[in-house]
Amino acid sequence: MSELNYQLDLLKAMNQKLTEKERMYHMVCDSAESAFLYFSYDKNQISTLGLWRDYFDFDVRDTVDLQRLLDEVDEPYQLELQNALFLDKTGNDSASVECLIKERRIWLQFRVRVYYDHSGNPTDKVVHITNITKQRYKDEELLYMAYYDSLTGLYNRNYFVRLLTEYVRNAEESRSVVSVMNIDIDEFNKVNDKLGLVLGDELVQQFGLFLKEFCQDNVIACHLHSDVFSMAIYDPAGTRTTEHIYKEIRKRIKEPFRLSDGTEIWITVSVGVAEYPEASHSALELINYAELVVYRVKASGRNSIQYFNAPILDDFMSSVELETRLKQAVTNKDFTMFYQPQYYTGTRRLRGVEALVRWQGQNGEMISPGTFIPVAEQNGSIVPIGKWVVEESVKQYAYWRNQFGFPFVMSINISALQYKKEDFVDFLMNVLNQYQVRPSEIELEITESVLIDDFAAVSEKLKLLRNYGIRISLDDFGTGFSSLSYLKKLPIDTLKIDKSFIDTVMTDPSTRVITESILNMVKALGFESIAEGVEEEQQYKYLNAIGCDIIQGYLFSKPLPPVEVEKIFAGSLV
Ligand code: C2E
Ligand code: CA
Ligand code: CA
Repeated sequence: MSELNYQLDLLKAMNQKLTEKERMYHMVCDSAESAFLYFSYDKNQISTLGLWRDYFDFDVRDTVDLQRLLDEVDEPYQLELQNALFLDKTGNDSASVECLIKERRIWLQFRVRVYYDHSGNPTDKVVHITNITKQRYKDEELLYMAYYDSLTGLYNRNYFVRLLTEYVRNAEESRSVVSVMNIDIDEFNKVNDKLGLVLGDELVQQFGLFLKEFCQDNVIACHLHSDVFSMAIYDPAGTRTTEHIYKEIRKRIKEPFRLSDGTEIWITVSVGVAEYPEASHSALELINYAELVVYRVKASGRNSIQYFNAPILDDFMSSVELETRLKQAVTNKDFTMFYQPQYYTGTRRLRGVEALVRWQGQNGEMISPGTFIPVAEQNGSIVPIGKWVVEESVKQYAYWRNQFGFPFVMSINISALQYKKEDFVDFLMNVLNQYQVRPSEIELEITESVLIDDFAAVSEKLKLLRNYGIRISLDDFGTGFSSLSYLKKLPIDTLKIDKSFIDTVMTDPSTRVITESILNMVKALGFESIAEGVEEEQQYKYLNAIGCDIIQGYLFSKPLPPVEVEKIFAGSLV
């Protein structure tokens, strides 16, 4: 009898323990504010736990019910979720997907984990489901904010460039005109000095709101910077919308702007127009040329409108002297290479160097590539210069690798014109061959300007280079049209976040939003990220915290002549 009692007590105790365990189990699940699916391969049974019923009004007991779960998910996400749920088929052990639930319009994150036994057979599977709706909408809102200028509510420059690029593409098809009209408030500095920055901003804001009234399907406007606006007008019907808008602007500025402190202020504006196809096919160039025309208008007395024409550009380019000197320099090979180290953010280990060309003038002065590269691109001498740069950098790389014995990445800047040359790929491969350098040790930095004209042809060429193993890096990211859908299609390895973001990342919250969004995207697409122009420890710490992979900038090192780089290499060896 006592034996029986003992057994009974034991059973009770076990039961109690079990109930306790179960309670604990449920409490843990509930407090995790998540739902769980648990699948035991042994029993071929699925259980639902935690907040499951908050998200779904049915239970999942077997694999058939999983189909019901998939049906609840918005179509574009179904396949991804299916793949994650049946992860064991691929032999992987974890996956994470984010899906929109059709009816409830909530976003759920499914994190799947499969456990395997010693012989590699799956034993258990846990799906951890969390509601990330708030997070998702916040991200979207932030991204949305990143498209607009907070002062005027007009588009910001980046987004404007992107839309303008679309206009140009449409105009190519419909053989129509796209006008880019830059509008610059005259003597705005004086306004600012007289009224102060706050009222100055108010004026900009009011003028922006006025321009917004013209925006419709074929007209967009953006606040470029300080007192400068840009509008793009796609005119398939040829209705001279540009002239109409200019007339309306003139009408408006006859009246004063009334500011909140009661001040009435009269302004004049200088307007420059550049049109596709006459001025350029590239969105960025159209904006730059319109800006160039504005300078012209300002120089000839302000308060009027001018249209772009070739002589204006020629005048501008009449850094004639610079041009002749540059030509001589090409013949004399008066160039030299500097190299700027790049470091892995977390470990501060050396990742590689970027090759930056320098022009040594006759009197020994260094002429910055910022000055002469644009001219060299204009007159074509970038092609011979670029060839020399490639040969020199590859040769230097081969020497260093032999000398110091460790591989790193040599990044070389390539201009659009150079890249478009038919024999570019052959040329590069020959040089690599000659110096016995592996393609994977070389990275080509390209800017979006390379892509603008002929995306398909260029991305084919990139694919070819990448098939050879050459790394491709997208330079100055964020300054061009940076279309996200393009990025997905591009065969690139690395993305360089432009210095202009890094400059303001500590002071401007919206820059931080954009930088973080860019980084998230870079991660999602599986690229590597480089921040360039990092000058301050604070910037470095922030970039490290938000997961930027690589850092380049004066904080770590300026571009250096080869002997100085060697000292760094020697240091890396110890
Ligand atoms: P980039 O490709 O964006 O190169 C980065 C520029 O930022 C370099 O200027 C570099 O010296 C500078 N920089 C790097 N870190 C910092 C920093 O922390 N603070 C500041 N203020 N600046 C920093 P650099 O060498 O004057 O080159 C200017 C541009 O000229 C380059 O911009 C690139 O577009 C072009 N370039 C330079 N070398 C070549 C070349 O060999 N071929 C071609 N096609 N273009 C080149
Ligand atoms: Ca670069
Ligand atoms: Ca750059």
